[in-house]
Amino acid sequence: MKDTDLVRYSRHIMLPEIDIEGQKKISSSKISIVGLGGLGCSASSFLAASGVGTLNLIDDDFIDISNLQRQILFSEKDLDSQKSSVAKNKLIKLNKEIDIQAQDLKLNAFNIESALKNSEIILDCTDNFDTRKLINIYCKNKELILISGSSQGWMGQFFSLDFKDDNSPCLECFFEDLDSEDLTCRESSIFSPLVGVIGSFMASESIKRIIASEKMNSELVELNLKENNLKSIKLKKNQNCKICSKL
Ligand SMILES: [Zn+2]
Repeated sequence: MKDTDLVRYSRHIMLPEIDIEGQKKISSSKISIVGLGGLGCSASSFLAASGVGTLNLIDDDFIDISNLQRQILFSEKDLDSQKSSVAKNKLIKLNKEIDIQAQDLKLNAFNIESALKNSEIILDCTDNFDTRKLINIYCKNKELILISGSSQGWMGQFFSLDFKDDNSPCLECFFEDLDSEDLTCRESSIFSPLVGVIGSFMASESIKRIIASEKMNSELVELNLKENNLKSIKLKKNQNCKICSKL
């Protein structure tokens, strides 16, 4: 590790759970972030600052003035620009030592393989269930780590799953009755700091998974920021899950 990196990441290295070995693992990790709304802006900022080796940013949307209330990578001068390229340019200013890729793309069954190639961890920060289901099946097939978050109003949630573990549940094990109705914030209310908190949790889960020496539980965490309540639920494989029983 370079001398400048020893200083740059010294506050991580001082944590016994991370140390130099953990920081090296972070620096060689590859993470894709699908969706650069509030969650993606928050998560990608902490992952870039933490020195994640490769960040692959995916979004096909443009920056709208209603985004500025919570999507902290974007400024007034960025209005109508592509989210993916603006996010990439902002994150490079934060950390030019890491590799940041931007893809102006909406994920679908045909492009997902090439879009997410080489990533070990996928952050699902999307706002619709069709894309969530697609990412879930891809991660399960490729035995990747899936970290997924959502937020609406004052309530947010996230879960993380490691498909290298055969016993890991999948998204559809615990959200059985999903239809294609949008889950999150495209047209609904959302408390600005909530996406910062959930996005930070997603970055935290990513780093904890990267440095983990032992198997981590699959759990879903629900947060009510109005009441400051946090609830965590252990997730189990559903024997009747139509995805898990098929693959
Ligand atoms: Zn399942």
